[in-house]
Amino acid sequence: MILLEYEAKGLLKDYNIPVANGVLYEEGFTPIDFPVVIKSQVPVGGRGKLGGVKIAQDMNEFEKLIPLVYTTEIKGFLPSSLLIEEAFKIIKEFYLALTINRDTGQIQFTANNDGGIEIESKDNSSFLTIPVHLKKPNFNEIGQQLAEYFNLEGHTFVLQDMAKNLYKAFTENDALLIEINPLILTAEDKLVAGDAKIELDSSAAFRHNWNFETKMPNANFVILNPDGNVATIANGAGLAMATVDAIVSAGLTPANFLDIGGGANEKTVLDAFTKLMEFPNTKAIIINIFGGITQCDQIAKAIISAKNNVPNLPPLFIRLSGNNYSQAKKLLDENNIKLLPSLDSCINQIKKEVLHDE
Ligand code: GDP
Ligand code: MN
Repeated sequence: MILLEYEAKGLLKDYNIPVANGVLYEEGFTPIDFPVVIKSQVPVGGRGKLGGVKIAQDMNEFEKLIPLVYTTEIKGFLPSSLLIEEAFKIIKEFYLALTINRDTGQIQFTANNDGGIEIESKDNSSFLTIPVHLKKPNFNEIGQQLAEYFNLEGHTFVLQDMAKNLYKAFTENDALLIEINPLILTAEDKLVAGDAKIELDSSAAFRHNWNFETKMPNANFVILNPDGNVATIANGAGLAMATVDAIVSAGLTPANFLDIGGGANEKTVLDAFTKLMEFPNTKAIIINIFGGITQCDQIAKAIISAKNNVPNLPPLFIRLSGNNYSQAKKLLDENNIKLLPSLDSCINQIKKEVLHDE
């Protein structure tokens, strides 16, 4: 689950990592001081190059730029809101991130002393990586290394603190990525997070009270044929692909590919149903779930809720197995909702009951 910039910065602020003062734009809002930065809140990066980050020097510019940024599409997304921040005078931009190195099983810092919007064109070898010792994190050393690398020896204490706080934010929130790009050295000689990207592990949602804008954590949704007659809900990219393939082999047309992801819960599945209702020709929905991290009873609750609350829901053909299957079966039985033993049987039933083949 990827947070919007303002959400990511809010989280960093809670861990005493310096971020710009900012507010979400509301109708009639007037900045007290200029210049300000106007930033499009979209779930993708690269906004600077695409017109999603603009600096207003005065009220006149501000009034022109607000509607412009609001209506500028960034990689297919319109902003849900605009973040208005005090603009810094930038002396230098750095890149600083925390990630998980899956090969070594360690959390590591990655840094580049030339941050900003061109970071993607940089060679891997130009990045400094510093692993964190899991048992005895060495933040003083890490901060010192960063300070030397950035040529900011005067900011050693600040970077040591930042390393410690970033790590704390990372581990306490089950993050997969925290990326600050740019980390700005301002004309006032302060280090401030100019942008922040945070990805949290959706599989850990159950142990947090997350309340972020992202509606469908980890969900991977692709429209295959808007006129398709069978819509699908599956979990895991492999199972979702196999589901779509089987539908095609049977001579039916899948409307979509949907992998609801590992951390799917009742709400995400219910959101998925709502989304599928946008297809005009759907005659049936196949639900093909193997409960690993996902609990089958959560899926069952979403199915029952969808049956009761979604108007004109097409017939459902459901195959569940795995985690909490028996609880799921009990819930569905109580609501007279039938389960099928396999994907093939789902497809055969659709042909018989809905399309009246043979
Ligand atoms: P991204 O392109 O989506 O990563 O958006 P960023 O928030 O990183 O902004 C892109 C670029 O806009 C930054 O690299 C900066 O060069 C510039 N920028 C962002 N905030 C400020 C600011 O407060 N002052 C100035 N002068 N430039 C800024
Ligand atoms: Mn950025």
